[in-house]
Amino acid sequence: MKNIIIFGAPGSGKGTYSEAIVNRYGMGHISTGDVLRAEIKNGTELGKIAQGYIDNGQLIPDELMIDILASTYDRQPQGKGVIFDGFPRTIAQAEALKKMLLERGHGLGMMIELIVGEDVLMERLLRRAQIEGRADDNEETIRKRFAVYHSQTAPLSEWFAAEGIRHTFDWSICKTKEGMIEAIFQEIDKENQ
Ligand code: ATP
Ligand code: MG
Repeated sequence: MKNIIIFGAPGSGKGTYSEAIVNRYGMGHISTGDVLRAEIKNGTELGKIAQGYIDNGQLIPDELMIDILASTYDRQPQGKGVIFDGFPRTIAQAEALKKMLLERGHGLGMMIELIVGEDVLMERLLRRAQIEGRADDNEETIRKRFAVYHSQTAPLSEWFAAEGIRHTFDWSICKTKEGMIEAIFQEIDKENQ
């Protein structure tokens, strides 16, 4: 299996579709948000640093994220491909990921971009706040995360297009979670045949 990078704004469903992909294809899964939240929960040094950024809706500094990513990648089962969920979020992270994979003889694989309007995103994140109680899922922090997404992360979409590996999926066309999953699976099958 090729590696998969799942890309989109906060609340676009990266975690949800990653889970569906993992269940179907048995790949490894790295969610940098989950990794950071586990560090915070365990009270580690890294967790303490990360908390300040996350609560503010800011990105963790690139050097730190890149180290975490490489060590997490090397702990994944080999040969099945990995889904990167929430990474890369900056051009520097994307360049570092490409280099890290190349050094191991692996490729970036395919990038899946989830396109969802901001009103839908806000609605979803506020609903999730009531269910999961994530500290950064409040309206003020969500607005900051959207701003960070637009300024630092969204430009990466063109970086992936230039690599020739961007595949976009639009919520307003698929309309349901099942429709999105079906379209994504079809594209993954096509890439891996
Ligand atoms: P969702 O998971 O619903 O799509 P999200 O993308 O905002 O929403 P996470 O990916 O869980 O949520 O990230 C939560 C926070 O963790 C980010 O706002 C940021 O502070 C930090 N974080 C996660 N991944 C990275 C990264 N690659 N670089 C820098 N910071 C990160
Ligand atoms: Mg997530």
